[in-house]
Amino acid sequence: MIYDVIIIGLGPAGISAGIYAHRQNLECLLIGKSFGGQMVSKAVDIENYPGFNKISGFDLVEKMIDQLKEKGIEYLEDKVVSIVKNEYFEIELDSGKKFQSKVVIVCTGAEPRRLSIEGEKEFLGKGVSYCTTCDGPLFRNKDVAIIGGGDAGFEAARFFSKYANKIYVIERGKDFIASSKNQEIVRSFYPKIETLLETDVIRIIGDSFVKGIECSKNNEALSLKVEGVFVQIGYVPTTGFLGDLVDMNDRGEIIVDRETLETKTPGLFAAGDVNDGRVKQIVVACSDGARASVYAYKYLNNK
Ligand SMILES: Cc1cc2nc3c(=O)[nH]c(=O)nc-3n(C[C@H](O)[C@H](O)[C@H](O)COP(=O)(O)OP(=O)(O)OC[C@H]3O[C@@H](n4cnc5c(N)ncnc54)[C@H](O)[C@@H]3O)c2cc1C
Repeated sequence: MIYDVIIIGLGPAGISAGIYAHRQNLECLLIGKSFGGQMVSKAVDIENYPGFNKISGFDLVEKMIDQLKEKGIEYLEDKVVSIVKNEYFEIELDSGKKFQSKVVIVCTGAEPRRLSIEGEKEFLGKGVSYCTTCDGPLFRNKDVAIIGGGDAGFEAARFFSKYANKIYVIERGKDFIASSKNQEIVRSFYPKIETLLETDVIRIIGDSFVKGIECSKNNEALSLKVEGVFVQIGYVPTTGFLGDLVDMNDRGEIIVDRETLETKTPGLFAAGDVNDGRVKQIVVACSDGARASVYAYKYLNNK
């Protein structure tokens, strides 16, 4: 079977693209590594998605999944490893399955930036994590370090104060990037949180599990005993499987036509955080998904 549209990614952009493709009666398949994308890693409630004054990332994802299921939209949980364009797009998955489609909408968002230091890979899942909401409750009464002094780091620290004994927020720069409101809240109401500036984490140490981190603070060695290390230093677009089908900017984002969201390859669209749009938010990802599906429909009808 040749699909009209294959949508890659099951975050808000992909789900929204799927809903719009379905409404336009396109034969469509959604493929994603897992449901929800970055919304799932959101530590505190989402307060800027219309229709909900406050909602957790998990609850919003669940509502979106329910909508997909209710409409009978076809989806598959798997990872896309390559795309080639011949007469049709040929898409290969991690499981070895292969699919063909006339149009592809890439909605693969972004994934956590790695620290790239000793011990990070070795202790992944053994104390090192990138998702506070997924793994936070495992660190009840333990000491943890959050690496990154942006809003994500501060929000993660607030989330952890429900569970952990002591929380360090570690930033290598001279100032925290988090909003002053976030910093103020932490300083005023969260005594378990200690913030450290100008502190570079050099390695993560342990045996079968993380036991601590070694840092350099103002060129002096500093060791902290922690059992959890949560890396919150930003996100990078997920584009590795696209080869030279797309052009990227210096941030690694896919360059698209701002109106249609089409890439340099006809019939290949990119929506949400993975493209070069400057505003990275759920509502924008949903809008992009809708826009890409509408233009995918036009593309198919003009062929
Ligand atoms: C900590 C944090 C807090 C945030 N808070 C807010 C907030 O309060 N309000 C707000 O509006 N926005 C917030 N955002 C931003 C928002 O989460 C993103 O803008 C939005 O999730 C982008 O959606 P997306 O669908 O483009 O990508 P993503 O959410 O990144 O989803 C991409 C999906 O693609 C999948 N995928 C990737 N590669 C492949 C592959 N090769 N094969 C198959 N599937 C693949 C991923 O598994 C994922 O499911 C926050 C982000 C973070 C990290």
